[in-house]
Amino acid sequence: MTPAQLLRKDYEVVVVGAGVLGLFVAHHLSKRIDPRRILVVDRGFLSSGASGRNGGGVRQQWETVPTVQLAKESVEAYRRFPLEFGFNPWFRQGGYLFLAFSAEEERRLHRVDQAVRSQGLKLEWLSVHEVQRLAPALDPGRLVGGSYLPSDGVIFPFPVLWGLYRSLRQRGVEVALRTEVLGFEIEGGGVRAVRTSAGTVRTSKVVNAAGGWSRDISALAGLSVPNTPTRHEIMATEPLKPFLDPMIVTLRRGVYFSQSMRGEVIGGLSLPHGGGAATGMPSSLEFLREFAREITTLLPRLGTVRVLRAWAGLYDDTPDGLPIVGEDPRLHGFVQANGFGGHGFMLAPAAGPRVAQVVLGEKADLDPALFGPDRFLGKGGPRTVEGIQLG
Ligand SMILES: Cc1cc2nc3c(=O)[nH]c(=O)nc-3n(C[C@H](O)[C@H](O)[C@H](O)COP(=O)(O)OP(=O)(O)OC[C@H]3O[C@@H](n4cnc5c(N)ncnc54)[C@H](O)[C@@H]3O)c2cc1C
Repeated sequence: MTPAQLLRKDYEVVVVGAGVLGLFVAHHLSKRIDPRRILVVDRGFLSSGASGRNGGGVRQQWETVPTVQLAKESVEAYRRFPLEFGFNPWFRQGGYLFLAFSAEEERRLHRVDQAVRSQGLKLEWLSVHEVQRLAPALDPGRLVGGSYLPSDGVIFPFPVLWGLYRSLRQRGVEVALRTEVLGFEIEGGGVRAVRTSAGTVRTSKVVNAAGGWSRDISALAGLSVPNTPTRHEIMATEPLKPFLDPMIVTLRRGVYFSQSMRGEVIGGLSLPHGGGAATGMPSSLEFLREFAREITTLLPRLGTVRVLRAWAGLYDDTPDGLPIVGEDPRLHGFVQANGFGGHGFMLAPAAGPRVAQVVLGEKADLDPALFGPDRFLGKGGPRTVEGIQLG
C-alpha cells in the first residue's frame, strides 16, 4: 500500500485520533480558524477505536456536578445532531435506570440524585413496584429501588462519527486515516512538528485525543501520564421484539444493558482485566459466561436467546475517573483531551468546544482542579473522585 500523502507541510493544529473526541474537537476548531489549517490523523479506519466499539449510553447521572453539567450539554447537542449534521444517530431517550440492591447502593444513588437535581434535571426515585412497571421483564430479586432519569438515552455511534467526518471534509479539514503518529519534534519547551507515517508536518499545537493509546502518544512527547488503557467487553443478542425502554445499570459489577432500535439487547459488565493497550482487544468466553449469568438473573426471558456478536475495546482510565482536558504544563502547545474511561461518547459533544478553547489559548469553562492535567502533577493529587464510573 502506498503511504498516504498529506496535503500540506504545516498546520495550525494537529489532532491525534479520529475518534469521537478528536472529531468533535476538530469540528469546533473549524468554526474558529481556517479549516484547511487543521489536520486530524488516525492510524486506523474511522471508528476503529473505542468510539466504534461502545454501548452508546448517554447519561447525566453522576456524583460530580460539573460532569452532570457536561453530560446535560451533550444530551442537548445530540438532540440537535440530525439538524446540524444531516445524519440521524438514532438518539433514543428511553432513560437510564440505575438499580439499587442494598441500603448502601441506595445511599450512593441518592448522592447522585442531589447532583442531578441541582442542575434542574427531573430525576425520579422509583420504588420496586415502580421499577417493575417501567421494566416489566425485570426480575426484582432483592431490589430496593431505582433512580430513573427519562432524558438519558442511547445513541448509535456510527452515524455520529460519519456525520462529523463528512462535515469536517466538507469544510476543508484534512482527516488522514491510516496515518500513524510516530513522534514529535520539540524545541524550547514547545511542540514544533509531528512525525507521521506520511511525513513530518510543522505545527505548534497538538491535541492528544488518542483514547486508550493517549498514554503512548504522551510518551512519544516525553510525558509520563497516569492514564491506564483497560480492555472492556460487550455483546449483542439476536434482535427481539421491543420490550425494554430504559438502559439498565447495576452498581454491583457495573452490569449495563439496553435494547437497540434494531431489537438487539446490547450490554456488558466490568471484569477485572489488567491494564495495558498491548494486551489488545480480544473477546473472551469468561466475559460471555459472566454476562450471561448476570443478565439472565435480571431478565430471565433472555435465557434462550442467542448471542449475535461480542467485541471489546479500550477504556482510557484515570485514577479519579474524570477526564483530562487542558494544555500539559510541561510542554507548550501539547493539549490533553483524553482519559474519558467508559464515558467519552456521552461527554465528547461538551468536551469538544472546551478543548478547542484551550487550543486557541482561551480560558475554558472547566474547573482545572477537576479536569486539568496539573491535578496529577502536584503533591496532593486529585481532590475529587467520580464514583459512578459505570456504563
Ligand atoms: C466496550 C465499551 C463500551 C463503552 N460504552 C460506552 C457508553 O455506553 N457510553 C459512553 O459514553 N462511552 C462508552 N465507552 C467509552 C467510549 O467509547 C470512549 O470513551 C470514547 O469512544 C473515546 O473516544 P476517543 O475519541 O477519545 O478515543 P477512540 O475512539 O479510541 O479514538 C482514538 C483514536 O486514536 C487513534 N490512534 C492511536 N494511536 C495512534 C497513533 N500513534 N497515530 C494515529 N492515531 C492513533 C486510534 O486509531 C483511535 O482511532 C465504551 C467503551 C468501550 C470499550
